[in-house]
Amino acid sequence: MKYEAERRALIQTALEIYESQLVVGTWGNVSLRLPAEEAMLITPSGMDYKVLDIEDPVQVSLDGSRIQGRWKPSIETPLHRRIYLAMPEVGAICHVHSPYASAYAVAGQAVPVVLEETAQVVGHAIEVAPYARCGSEELAEGTMQFLKGKRAVLLANHGLVAAGKDLADALKICYIVEKTARVSIMARLLGQVRELSKEDINALQHDFTFYGQSKDHT
Ligand SMILES: [Zn+2]
Repeated sequence: MKYEAERRALIQTALEIYESQLVVGTWGNVSLRLPAEEAMLITPSGMDYKVLDIEDPVQVSLDGSRIQGRWKPSIETPLHRRIYLAMPEVGAICHVHSPYASAYAVAGQAVPVVLEETAQVVGHAIEVAPYARCGSEELAEGTMQFLKGKRAVLLANHGLVAAGKDLADALKICYIVEKTARVSIMARLLGQVRELSKEDINALQHDFTFYGQSKDHT
């Protein structure tokens, strides 16, 4: 079967968002770009991540004209397609409904850059794209406008979209945004949320990008 390694990695990531409680049930979706095909592989719609088989991920061309697979692709396929078309640097996308990021999405507030990890991995506040119903072209269009040039965006009353260079990167963005949302809510309960300055964010990002060995544990 073609793209066996990519299919396995996609299933593994889908399983991880479920087991890490970034989603419950069959919600959320994951995709990766297939550069040679002008296409992506995406999780099928409404299927239990625990039983996904190598043949289950669906291949969809980026113009939407060709769908190959035995199941319907994720309902958020229009959103994923638009991101790959508009952002050539993106190799994989994770969309999750994690609770603390969702709290910000419901409150209509951006997740602030309050941790060094947030500065290093994301590098910007995670803003909220306007509400539109799941799976709609309107949601895809509105979300793109907020995500372009960035790494993550909140969907109002819905969840989080992370756009990474590969699956591990997209997953890491989800974990860091969720942790940042959680910590900033707790800090607010303690009294004060102190954000990092723009200057510190830029310096942290620069160091993180250019000093390979400091990658995950600075
Ligand atoms: Zn969703």
